[in-house]
Amino acid sequence: MTNQDSPSQQAGSAPEIEVDIFDSVRQPDGGPVDPVRLQADDSFCFSCHKSINCWNRCCHNADVTLTPADILMLTKHLDLQPSEFLAQYTVPAFWEKSDMPVAKLRSDETNNGACVFLAGDEGCGVYAARPATCRYYPMGLASIKMMGATEKEDFHFLVKESHCEGHAEDNSQTVAEFRAQQGVEALDEVNRGWIDIMMKMVSWRSVGGPNSKPVSQQAKKMFFMVSTDVEAFRRFVFETKFLDTYAIDQETVETLKKSDIALLQMGFDWLKHVLFNEQTINLKEDVLQAAIAKARSDMGAT
Ligand code: SF4
Ligand code: SF4
Repeated sequence: MTNQDSPSQQAGSAPEIEVDIFDSVRQPDGGPVDPVRLQADDSFCFSCHKSINCWNRCCHNADVTLTPADILMLTKHLDLQPSEFLAQYTVPAFWEKSDMPVAKLRSDETNNGACVFLAGDEGCGVYAARPATCRYYPMGLASIKMMGATEKEDFHFLVKESHCEGHAEDNSQTVAEFRAQQGVEALDEVNRGWIDIMMKMVSWRSVGGPNSKPVSQQAKKMFFMVSTDVEAFRRFVFETKFLDTYAIDQETVETLKKSDIALLQMGFDWLKHVLFNEQTINLKEDVLQAAIAKARSDMGAT
């Protein structure tokens, strides 16, 4: 993730913006962001290949935040349980803009900060399952909501870091072509609920948290569990009172048993309910009535 100004700030339009940027770019040298918004059919020049002078330089001190889809993909690729993957290849961290817990890829400080997956001159050792951040590079993904608008607007922007010579290559492509080549569409789809939560947390942070209340440590732990360890979340759903509490029909329950992606998406709906009180998941009728009765009793109503 970059720490430089967002493109909107550089373009001087910050006062209009309600929701800040979610970006997917790495943080080696804080190079300039090109503030031009790129839409799907806009073109830019870039190419990355083994014979380029800067080969692998971006895989050192790369600061890669893993998305939920990355962890699903990498655990399958490496045939590991999420807990094993997290212990071997990641470090826990906080995504600074939202103050929410995330897992970042480990780097080897004894080897110039090389990413744990860098396989020397061969490049990325998990290329087929590389994280979204690495696929997006050197592009950032932004999502903003202008003051008074009802919908968010997604767009891309370029990050030109001084060490990256790929921008000088004579290879023009559109944003849509680059996205298709990098295979980010399916990952974005899986990550959408997680990105929504991150962006909401960014916008709430300036007033101290959702509805001006700080997020509890317990809620942060739950967010981390859903985001990083689908097997732990599966146990939470099927081995606690979760299914006695929430109204989830039997067909959906069967799907949740089999599909990691369906389970993740339900997990993000549940987190939106817990964090922002959104009606993304419903309590069972008896649980709801008991909660209403308790609230009335706590207020002294008969
Ligand atoms: S996962 Fe692969 S592409 Fe990404 S930083 Fe590590 S070695 Fe480089
Ligand atoms: S061209 Fe850019 S993305 Fe490719 S290896 Fe060089 S620094 Fe990394």
